[in-house]
Amino acid sequence: MQACPYCAGETRDLLSAPDINRRVSNTVFHLRHCHECGLNFLADPPADLGPYYTSDYHHVPKDRAELEEYLPMQRFRIDLLRQFCSAGKLLEIGPSIGQFCASAQDAGFTVHAIEMDAACVSFLREKLGITAYHSDDPTGVLRKLSVRFDAICFWHSLEHLPKFWEVLCAARACLAPGGVILIAAPNPEAFQARVMGASWPHHDLPRHLFGISIPWLRRWAAENDIELAFATTRDAGSIFGNRFSWAMKFQGLAPRNALAQRLSWRLGTLFGRLWKPLEDREGLGACYTAILRAPAQAGSLSSRPVEKH
Ligand SMILES: [Zn+2]
Repeated sequence: MQACPYCAGETRDLLSAPDINRRVSNTVFHLRHCHECGLNFLADPPADLGPYYTSDYHHVPKDRAELEEYLPMQRFRIDLLRQFCSAGKLLEIGPSIGQFCASAQDAGFTVHAIEMDAACVSFLREKLGITAYHSDDPTGVLRKLSVRFDAICFWHSLEHLPKFWEVLCAARACLAPGGVILIAAPNPEAFQARVMGASWPHHDLPRHLFGISIPWLRRWAAENDIELAFATTRDAGSIFGNRFSWAMKFQGLAPRNALAQRLSWRLGTLFGRLWKPLEDREGLGACYTAILRAPAQAGSLSSRPVEKH
């Protein structure tokens, strides 16, 4: 029996699957579930994850103008954050090519980033003028920083990080009073996760090392002097994630030629529409976006009203 890497609790086999999304190898990986804290974790991550982030993982634009083409479809991200934090210093961990970083700059934030991909870091620094740290160890970078951030954002990056709870603790320590941590991640409690099982594309083994549920985040927050102020599976990105995974699922079943791949994507998208009334219900969607908010003053968390949305 393998103990939970977070709480050392008892665990059980949840599912086994190869790399169904990128097919880098035929190795079968095993996801386990902790009875104590509810965390899902990859029991046997490869010693070197590098090859699983294939060369097409990031498409680095030639300049900011090319990046701007991607920004309108992600506008909801900065709009969502600004409901909780409207200005100040922002750090994104795992920004890739920096669509959100650019939106945050446009909204007036001073933007920092921690990114493991060298080409992305060069783009962030040279084309966007962002203070970007090149590292695959965000905990180490955060512990050395003296900056205090008003917002620290993980847009679908937290589940990729080893010992992500240490990253969260380091991020919590770098928050200014009243600052927020934004986390967007796959929802292990999604309707799709139940019906698709091992073939759910959002498991994305072995790149996703963990499945982190909203209840897990709520408990972690309560233990770390920060509140879960907001969580939804109904923001624009999460709802897009619903359709995306049905399309991915169908594409994964189709032959690898271009026509079959295109048709299966369309068919998957159409099939996904059948489930829309169910998947659009709060809590059942494929992904979530959550906001953790630090107290405005040390020790004042219990006296603050919880914001309703
Ligand atoms: Zn556990």
